[in-house]
Amino acid sequence: MEIKLNNHFLDVKETYLFSDIAKRVKKFQEENPDREIIRMGIGDVTLPLPASVTSAMENAVKEMASKETFHGYPPEYGYDFLRDAIAAHYKEIGAPAITSNVIYVSDGAKSDLGNLPDILGDNPVIIPDPVYPVYVDSNLMNGRKVSFVAGNKENDFLPLPPADTNIEPSVIYICSPNNPTGAVYSYEGLTAWVNFAIKTGSLIIFDAAYEAFITEDKPHTIYEIPGADTCAIEISSFSKFAGFTGVRCGWTVVPDGLEAGGIKLSKFWARRQATKFNGVSYVTQKGAAASLSGQGLEDCKANIAYYKRNAAALAEVFTQKGIYFTGGVNSPYIWLKCPDNMGGWEFFDSILNRFGIVGTPGEGFGENGAGYFRLTAFGSYENTLKACEFFKTL
Ligand SMILES: *Cc1c(COP(=O)(O)O)cnc(C)c1O
Repeated sequence: MEIKLNNHFLDVKETYLFSDIAKRVKKFQEENPDREIIRMGIGDVTLPLPASVTSAMENAVKEMASKETFHGYPPEYGYDFLRDAIAAHYKEIGAPAITSNVIYVSDGAKSDLGNLPDILGDNPVIIPDPVYPVYVDSNLMNGRKVSFVAGNKENDFLPLPPADTNIEPSVIYICSPNNPTGAVYSYEGLTAWVNFAIKTGSLIIFDAAYEAFITEDKPHTIYEIPGADTCAIEISSFSKFAGFTGVRCGWTVVPDGLEAGGIKLSKFWARRQATKFNGVSYVTQKGAAASLSGQGLEDCKANIAYYKRNAAALAEVFTQKGIYFTGGVNSPYIWLKCPDNMGGWEFFDSILNRFGIVGTPGEGFGENGAGYFRLTAFGSYENTLKACEFFKTL
């Protein structure tokens, strides 16, 4: 063919991270068929959906089977029952100004993160490193210029805004609690970013996918910070909160106070969604709503507590060993400094061979991830305890 392609796709680095990991694990298994493997590399939930949530979905399926209660296309921004339930959640976590009408239900955070560049012009993009690769890649695919702010041991992987506020208005990504580092911003830290955004005329895209893991006194939503409703979009998801990675539901908040060049961002986002997205299934939204109240909420919280117990067990071992790490408290991730100045891949091979444990080398999340390692708490408690015993012998 002789058509032109979007060659910005060539700017996106090929990543062999997960295929590389899979290859090394396969080789280890072939060479050691009797050794048990403890998988702590997965960034996916493992507990099944609570019956309180699936029964709401079953009832919704039954409604679809009857002429009187059948549902066709869903409303493009989500059913009111779900938008209201999400708004009630914001009230609970200290952001009562976030009302149903500024909440846009979607099939997950990743889609919204990928689609947001649609409504934004050619602005510089600022992204912390190490980072969830979706932010970088979805901007490179649109030809945006990305610069990084470094997360490192000095700032406990919570980089603060640059001192120089004399910058071009930019699009800034923040993920807290963070994947991969598990670090979570304090009120002071997020306030610094919000003030920086306001001062520089920038937009923050805040990823709150792990909000439900926060138990310390840290901001659950960027809208707890004064002024954020004039400079921040928030993206969140039922994936990690309610175990919906395989069901698919999330949401994006675009407050009415977000304006650029006299145009409300919500106008463009609403238009973008109405044109290119046909909504999330009724059954899914019923399940999502069930996870936000009553027994469903209790059950989802219990699942999160299960993962958090795993994270706490790991954190205790690394604390005892004096190994530097972030996360493990308000997050399902532990981000540790590889002992003996090993690189991430060296540590990967070392613990695979010695213990049969699989994790993720920090090198896969950006330059500043080198020499670090991500472990996840999404496995079983039994396996996590086995891993803890091994890590005690590091
Ligand atoms: C898992 C995860 C999400 C959730 O994505 P979904 O598409 O909703 O499953 C969002 N952001 C980060 C950083 C994540 O790790």
